[in-house]
Amino acid sequence: MIPPDHPRYRSLLVRERLARYAAEGIVSLEGLTAHGRGEAFDYLIGEKTTESALIAEKTAAALLLCAKNPVISVNGNTAALAANLLPALQENSRAKVEVNLFHRTDERMRKITRLLRDQGVRVEEGTAERLLPLSHDRAFCQRGGIFDADVVLVPLEDGDRCQALRGMGKTVITIDLNPLSRTARSASLTIVDELTRALPNITTYCSSLTRDEAVMLAGSLENEWFLADAREEMKRGLSHALD
Ligand code: ATP
Ligand code: MG
Repeated sequence: MIPPDHPRYRSLLVRERLARYAAEGIVSLEGLTAHGRGEAFDYLIGEKTTESALIAEKTAAALLLCAKNPVISVNGNTAALAANLLPALQENSRAKVEVNLFHRTDERMRKITRLLRDQGVRVEEGTAERLLPLSHDRAFCQRGGIFDADVVLVPLEDGDRCQALRGMGKTVITIDLNPLSRTARSASLTIVDELTRALPNITTYCSSLTRDEAVMLAGSLENEWFLADAREEMKRGLSHALD
């Protein structure tokens, strides 16, 4: 039992949930370490949505709304942390949801798909083929899903795959607390915010933006500005802590 008055209550609850999902085979052990890296960067950014991250979330909504075939790519950590947040985002953004795993087994694919469906997510059912130019199993995706997408939202992405998707001419939106990662630097749009803070904001903007606002925002995107601001926030946070 985690006492609710513990100063790290929320973080401990999330860790407990991830450990439970790891025991069930939904989150990989490697996924647990990736979460730890995310938590470290969240400390640096003050565990809050910064002003620039909120603009990035609004821009993400604009890109999804302007897309012809938007797809949300879901891995084990995303399913474990945010399955309950995905139905509303899917509804408001009209995006397809496809499961894509680095540590891919039929059993994990089934378990993650079931977890998402139990929450009301409509998950793509086609057969995956090795369609991305990658030597590992994240190369698998569905025609009609990620392969044909023009805009892909890939939370907690791996750098290799982000670059492969960009190389195929796709607009890649990622959510990554580390503004220095290869993913953050190679995505079309990087949201430097924690996944479960970012997703509800994108969902809300998907229903509030007008068509004209969406087109204007999507056209004015400059990712380096978001990355630079996140780095500055972290520097500011660190110098305050050291004062
Ligand atoms: P890259 O492959 O892009 O160079 P990496 O190898 O350092 O990055 P990965 O393990 O591929 O990182 O991906 C995990 C990324 O997701 C990390 O950068 C981590 O900061 C981030 N991350 C983990 N949990 C969260 C979360 N809940 N919200 C946002 N970002 C997160
Ligand atoms: Mg990586």
